[in-house]
Amino acid sequence: MVGLGLFAGIVFPPFVVLLGVPTELAFSPPFYAACLSAGLLVGVFNFLVTCRVVRPRVKMLSEGMQRFRQAMVDEEGPGVAHTGAAERFHVPVDSQDELGRAAESYNRLIDVLVSARRIEESVRTFSNTLASQLDLAPLCREALGVMLARTGALAGALLVVREGRLECAASYGLDDPDGLVGRSDVRHALEDLKTRQVESPSGVLLTDGPEVFPREMLLLPLEGKKGGMGMLVLASLSSFTPEVFRLLDFFRQSLKLALQNALSHERLGRIAAMDSLTGCYNRRMGMERLTEEFARAVRNGQPLGVIMFDIDHFKPVNDNWGHLAGDRILVQTARTAEHVLRDGDVLVRFGGEEFLIILPGAAQPEVEAIAERVRAAVASMDLRDEGPARVTVSLGAGSVPAQGVDSAEVLLEQVDKALYEAKAAGRDCVVSMSTGEAIRA
Ligand code: GH3
Ligand code: MG
Ligand code: MG
Repeated sequence: MVGLGLFAGIVFPPFVVLLGVPTELAFSPPFYAACLSAGLLVGVFNFLVTCRVVRPRVKMLSEGMQRFRQAMVDEEGPGVAHTGAAERFHVPVDSQDELGRAAESYNRLIDVLVSARRIEESVRTFSNTLASQLDLAPLCREALGVMLARTGALAGALLVVREGRLECAASYGLDDPDGLVGRSDVRHALEDLKTRQVESPSGVLLTDGPEVFPREMLLLPLEGKKGGMGMLVLASLSSFTPEVFRLLDFFRQSLKLALQNALSHERLGRIAAMDSLTGCYNRRMGMERLTEEFARAVRNGQPLGVIMFDIDHFKPVNDNWGHLAGDRILVQTARTAEHVLRDGDVLVRFGGEEFLIILPGAAQPEVEAIAERVRAAVASMDLRDEGPARVTVSLGAGSVPAQGVDSAEVLLEQVDKALYEAKAAGRDCVVSMSTGEAIRA
């Protein structure tokens, strides 16, 4: 810069000659010395201005960049994703000139980078949380909680298509979350898989205080392999910002994967619990349910009824009409027994042609009555197409509380004993666990 000033001082005298100043004057030592001094002075002045004004700002900018770069790569450090991080890396904008504009652009760049890192961290935490959860209900609760917190929404719900039906798997802050399933805008969004922003949605009430209606409801469909697999519903008292949409776009991918895993897990669990021929619970699951129901009955001081039944002379049915006819009769017997039962009763294929019925809340007289109804219903099944004129079952019926019965296993043993007494009593009858007597219709 000083050199440039000197150079200007040297070329100035020949330049003024070109403009018509006499050569003797232009090249006279005093004029030349004055030009050189002036050039030097301007050069020094510029240098000082650069040192005092420009250099500190450029230095601040470069140091800011270095600090930010270090924070971005430093995994152990305070990180750039926490609240207020962007401001920590901002540089002051104290002028309107190019330097001020450069500082402003730098600050904006920091904001964008910090926001991108924040989204990245949120998605990573979200994915890790969901990946460790395979049970649908807790998974949906956790996912909804994170999304409410991250988007600032006041209320929301996570709807999931389960066994072909849309149902509410988790909700927060909504007055009637199950009512969402019947809304036409929800159904349409699930069909065309397009996100919808519904302004002042009718019929959606928040439970946060009396008569609070959301200003905006966001319907975010989740696309599965065969169409819509679920929907995220968020409600807010203000409009959702573009940043929320961007964040939800990232969350949506992780959520879809986690939901697919949980639904497959649930389906596999169901398959493992079912008997493939009759669709009833299998023995393993039946024993689990019986143990659970026994513990619940003891805890709540409620009765628990159990029936065991076995098809009479089933071997000759197979021998005479074949195994396939035998299979169909097994299925028909299961359906007939199910028909007699109430919601909440559980039918289990215990093995071969033997079934177990678990009747929560049923005391001894009620269990005996239900057993008798099962017997009568099976005996009057229409089997014309299958071969035998009719099949019958023998049943043991018992209930707790009962003397000496202190576990599910003992209850099962006693009812099994009653079943064999029913066989011994001539079949096609119910034997009561409490009396050991056959109940004849
Ligand atoms: P009881 O009156 O004493 O119970 O005589 P039962 O012939 O029913 O008794 P048994 O235990 O001798 O025979 C049970 C038969 O049930 C034998 C077996 O072939 C048949 N069975 C068991 N499981 C199935 C099945 O899944 N399908 C078919 N078709 N038959 C089965
Ligand atoms: Mg049998
Ligand atoms: Mg048997």
